[in-house]
Amino acid sequence: MNPENPPIQHFGDMPTEEFRQHGHALVDWIAAYRQNLDNIKVLPDVQPGSITAQLPQSAPEAPEAMAALLNDFERLILPNLTQWHHPNFFAYFANSSSLPAVLAEFLTAAINNNSMVWKSGQAATELEHVTLDWLRQALALPAEMWGMIFDTASISTMQAIACAREEAGVEAREKGLAGRTTPRLRVYASEFVHSSIDKACITLGLGAENLVKIPANERFQMIPEALEKAIADDRAAGHLPICVVGVVGTTSVASSDPITTIAAICKREKLWLHVDAAYAGPVAMLPEWRGRFAGWEEADSIVINPHKWLLVPMDLSILYTRKPHVLKQAFSLTPEYLKTTEDALVENMMDYGIQLGRRFRSLKLWFVMRYFGIEGLQARLREHIALARLFGDLVEAHPDFELTSPVEFSLVCFRFRPQNLPNADEATRERLLERLNTDLEERLNASGAIFLVHTKVHGVYTLRFAVGNMETTEKHVRRAFERIVAVAGMLGK
Ligand code: PLP
Repeated sequence: MNPENPPIQHFGDMPTEEFRQHGHALVDWIAAYRQNLDNIKVLPDVQPGSITAQLPQSAPEAPEAMAALLNDFERLILPNLTQWHHPNFFAYFANSSSLPAVLAEFLTAAINNNSMVWKSGQAATELEHVTLDWLRQALALPAEMWGMIFDTASISTMQAIACAREEAGVEAREKGLAGRTTPRLRVYASEFVHSSIDKACITLGLGAENLVKIPANERFQMIPEALEKAIADDRAAGHLPICVVGVVGTTSVASSDPITTIAAICKREKLWLHVDAAYAGPVAMLPEWRGRFAGWEEADSIVINPHKWLLVPMDLSILYTRKPHVLKQAFSLTPEYLKTTEDALVENMMDYGIQLGRRFRSLKLWFVMRYFGIEGLQARLREHIALARLFGDLVEAHPDFELTSPVEFSLVCFRFRPQNLPNADEATRERLLERLNTDLEERLNASGAIFLVHTKVHGVYTLRFAVGNMETTEKHVRRAFERIVAVAGMLGK
């Protein structure tokens, strides 16, 4: 027998009866996990490399039983993970993976649809548009805003800046940017913009130094006059301004730029306006908060991340744009093997971005929007905002703590500032405060009972308390503050 041409044998998948048995058990496991989160640590006590050391160096040659796998998951994986769904997770932007979305993910993996083109994912392509249009209406965005799902805000934003580059007419798509005389392409954003904007500029070949950071005022909002001056200076220097990124809900402090004014500048200067509302975007579903978003309806593109604050698990980011034709102009390219008979009648999602293969992400958003309804989503957003306010009130009422920026959306920035600070000059006191707050953060996190992270705002070391997990209740927030006060009281002892 020729070893390169053996007889055909069929091997197949896990038997469906076995799947049924493990699947049922796994659903029970997930339900129990969610019920017991309060009893486990949010942050594990684990050292770098310790997990690798417990895992085999190569894959098993022989098949293993599911029981062994699940056992190792419980023994080695789960206890060595930060629990993002824990009610005491207050780090980064806390988020939620709601159970209806978990069920949708189960189905997504099971059917494994790939909506590269309409023909390869008919309902997935159309459901994406329908669901994003439902959300657009709930966010009170204009009807011409067309949405598309990407994995993360980093990619959505990169696609938006690629559109700005395309509109600038430098023919980057065909000719590239290097080795010819194109002016420097300039992008503007506040000093508080997320690092994904820097990375987009790096990836698109604009260069990190061509992201011009515009100073922010004392409320951490971009100063429009400084933006105007930067654009004018750049034009005078022969550079080519192409895009402004305004933020609603900055990562550090959840501040919002004055989008209406920025939009007017962009209109006058003929610049692409991209609004980064990756975190705060869903709050536009609340009429009483729409003021924060004023002007975003004028944007050329907007990014919103349902995987941050709309109960959808990683990953699902939405890019809305009123100019999908520019995305298409920048990215459409159809090799012979991807041509279909319906091309003239449909939207093939591969035409609107760098990515060909696409997960069926809209299913989980559809489940979430239908299971909770707009009312249910609004109620949960309001709950998180109220919990953040409660924490902010507790901070303000305590003589040894202070807010370092106004409470915005569901984020509280604060620090420990004991009344009995030694008499010293301002710089020395600030250094001492930074050390105290670093120690406080480390001790809190080392306990594994709560998890929060810090930032620096205008040089001030600041702790961040982010509410966004649907398991978090008033009890958790009050207990977290009590713990913070208690641990702060022990510093230096
Ligand atoms: N924009 C803002 C305002 C963010 O807070 C973040 C992440 O926290 C991002 C963009 C990047 O999000 P992603 O992780 O989806 O790329």
